[in-house]
Amino acid sequence: MIGHSRADTLAELSRRRFDLLVVGAGIIGAGVAAHASRAGLAVALVDKGDFGGATSSSSSKLIHGGLRYLRLGDVRLVREAHHERRVLAKVVAPHLVHRTPFLLPLYRGGPYRPAFVQSGIVLYSALARSRINWLVGPREAGELVPPLRLDGLRSCALYADATTNDARLCLENVRAAVEAGACALNDAEVIGLHTSNGRISGAEVCVDGEEIAVQARAVVNAAGPWVDHVRRLEVPRAGSSVRLSKGAHVLLTLDEGWAAALTIAQDDVRVTFAVPWHDMLLLGTTDAEHSCDPGAVTVTSADVEQILDEASVALPADVVARDRVTAAYAGLRVLPAGAGESVSARRETVFTRSPGGMLNVAGGKLTTYRRIALQALDRLQADMGMRRPDRRPWPLPGAVGLDRMVLPKGLEPDVRAHLLHLYGSLAVEVLAPAAEDPSLLERLHPDGPDIVAEVRYAATHEWARSADDVLHRRTTCFYRGLADDALRARVERVLASAFVEG
Ligand SMILES: Cc1cc2nc3c(=O)[nH]c(=O)nc-3n(C[C@H](O)[C@H](O)[C@H](O)COP(=O)(O)OP(=O)(O)OC[C@H]3O[C@@H](n4cnc5c(N)ncnc54)[C@H](O)[C@@H]3O)c2cc1C
Repeated sequence: MIGHSRADTLAELSRRRFDLLVVGAGIIGAGVAAHASRAGLAVALVDKGDFGGATSSSSSKLIHGGLRYLRLGDVRLVREAHHERRVLAKVVAPHLVHRTPFLLPLYRGGPYRPAFVQSGIVLYSALARSRINWLVGPREAGELVPPLRLDGLRSCALYADATTNDARLCLENVRAAVEAGACALNDAEVIGLHTSNGRISGAEVCVDGEEIAVQARAVVNAAGPWVDHVRRLEVPRAGSSVRLSKGAHVLLTLDEGWAAALTIAQDDVRVTFAVPWHDMLLLGTTDAEHSCDPGAVTVTSADVEQILDEASVALPADVVARDRVTAAYAGLRVLPAGAGESVSARRETVFTRSPGGMLNVAGGKLTTYRRIALQALDRLQADMGMRRPDRRPWPLPGAVGLDRMVLPKGLEPDVRAHLLHLYGSLAVEVLAPAAEDPSLLERLHPDGPDIVAEVRYAATHEWARSADDVLHRRTTCFYRGLADDALRARVERVLASAFVEG
């Protein structure tokens, strides 16, 4: 285990007095914890579920400027997001963030005129400091995305963004925090807040059925869709600072390689995406107000129908057929409270202070997590008596030594590519025990590149506690539709033996 065992972490959480307690280990909480630990603070990070188990594994998995935000007039957000995209792809996580060309097909009778789109793409690409920005004809577009519907197609705008594996990006931030000295625990729910002299001074945390007190000079509430639930632990009658909007996605099998993703205009504000992701096709997303319990978010059959139907604007029926669907998931956007349609709401981060000084951070984007984390630390500077944190980007654990790594020969090409993408230079560590036990190189399922060594590594180095943690967030099995009972049982056996050895 990186850092300490679960029992040691638990003991440390209740024994030490921390500078900072971060509630919620989605990408925002994990990013805050990583940056705060590297700035020298003593940090505790807890999540009531798995690290990245909520919104941060349910996104569209894009690291993007957000063409749509340009349409909404948010040039600043687009510029910042492009900056972050470049920094993530070059320095922070080049193994996890891959530049991807995007085509925006312009059909006769569609919501956009080509001249209008071209001026938008030119501005977008200028903000991206990218040189691809062009209108391409149907023939070239069809070469990039072979099944693209060509009837009625006038041209396509071409621009560049990036794709990622959101859950693993989050996990690497947790690991970076722990490597810098943080104490991180999953399945650890904050159920109460402590105050002393009117200031929040820690929290009551429920872990494995027991309650422990965690003391901290400051608390950051990064509970995502639960941000108001955590605020109400201090002020039970606090109003709502945010509203929630559900977005669903589906994964489908993909027969041929796509050299670009698609941005599909649904009306003059909303677009959906069709993205080649880990050799599958990721489609989404929807946008519907959600006023129930955040834990109750599910994908309905109507969501799946809507997503397939909207993709069929640009793709033939056989490519987006329901029987090709391998998985579906949904997450909740956290938007600033206010009236108006959620689709037009600004995707900005809301920072608020509770009466006892807790810093609440909600909303924003996966793409800009680093910037949000640094802004949170700026706001904590006075509480912590610290200098302004260093803003220079640094590589996440899997990005260190990428150019020097050597993987064992004999790995099949798809397994090698998969390991390099998910783990970067840590792939060497994932594979190390296979030198003694070659059965760890076996595929978990004949139809996917995930191998048994990843399950063991998930238990020993990545805090996985259940088969779901492994299948949904450490590997790609869930998305490929391979997470059946037999695989679940196999993963549970490997986890159990890793826990016994550990
Ligand atoms: C459908 C959809 C698509 C998106 N697509 C993109 C995209 O392509 N690109 C992009 O940049 N952004 C995208 N986003 C936005 C991005 O995913 C989110 O901004 C980001 O994941 C939010 O992270 P978070 O850490 O704030 O929240 P979360 O990931 O939800 O983390 C909050 C955590 O707090 C924990 N928690 C809650 N209460 C407690 C408690 N009491 N004690 C302990 N822990 C607690 C939860 O278990 C959870 O893990 C998308 C969002 C959605 C919903």
